[in-house]
Amino acid sequence: MEPIDPTPATSNITVRRGEPLVVVKDINKHYGELHVLKNINATVNRGEVVVVIGPSGSGKSTLCRAINRLETIDDGVITIDGVKLPAEGRALATLRADVGMVFQAFNLFAHKTVLENVTLGPIKVRGLSKAAAEKKAMALLERVGVANQAKKMPAQLSGGQQQRVAIARALAMEPKLILLDEPTSALDPEMINEVLEVMVDLANDGMTMIVVTHEMGFARKAADRVIFMAEGEIVEETTPEEFFTNPQSTRAKDFLSKIL
Ligand code: ADP
Ligand code: MG
Repeated sequence: MEPIDPTPATSNITVRRGEPLVVVKDINKHYGELHVLKNINATVNRGEVVVVIGPSGSGKSTLCRAINRLETIDDGVITIDGVKLPAEGRALATLRADVGMVFQAFNLFAHKTVLENVTLGPIKVRGLSKAAAEKKAMALLERVGVANQAKKMPAQLSGGQQQRVAIARALAMEPKLILLDEPTSALDPEMINEVLEVMVDLANDGMTMIVVTHEMGFARKAADRVIFMAEGEIVEETTPEEFFTNPQSTRAKDFLSKIL
């Protein structure tokens, strides 16, 4: 008989928790008078999947953009794999290459083929040969199920296919971390699952991910932690199970009553 695994099922989080990869410490951000990020503290460990959830305007995208240095911060410190932001010049380029980003709106290069979209970064930033980049890109397009679309232009693909290409493009850089900001919210309902499946596959593969999404199914299946934001603050931080079944704050309860 197989020995019984003594580790309880709930220890998944502990098992997958590596050392800190992203550390956000006391960051603040204003847009003019608007205080969009209020003393945010968060750590994402290597291999962890963190879902960020919260009402529109709560600062989720700003936080993602700050982590990728697409936005500056007023104060506080963000480190990625021990490297402090804001980095500049070459260091910033390296950092961006290490942090993959997938946005809500399909942001593929419209005038390049699917294949070119995926090979561009590895050739320009990582210095791969065209042949090596194409080989790698085809494998990634295969992985996300769109290899047969490689020669097409993005506009010829469905939204779900474009978003899967965007994920393949991010992966092609071999990032340390992938940020996905509402990757399924602009999709027609029938295309949401095909993108979520790719994301679950990545999560199971050990990719470190920060995912802004209201997709509870994804959170339950793949997230180690849920961070609930409201009005620029982290209001709750817990397991998906806890968050969805037993939210603590009035703001989380209100929010969940609207989306569930
Ligand atoms: P979320 O992603 O949670 O919906 P955002 O981070 O996009 O929230 O936005 C947080 C707040 O900051 C919102 O009130 C939004 O209107 C405001 N905001 C976002 N980007 C800008 C900007 N570039 N200039 C001014 N205000 C902005
Ligand atoms: Mg947003």
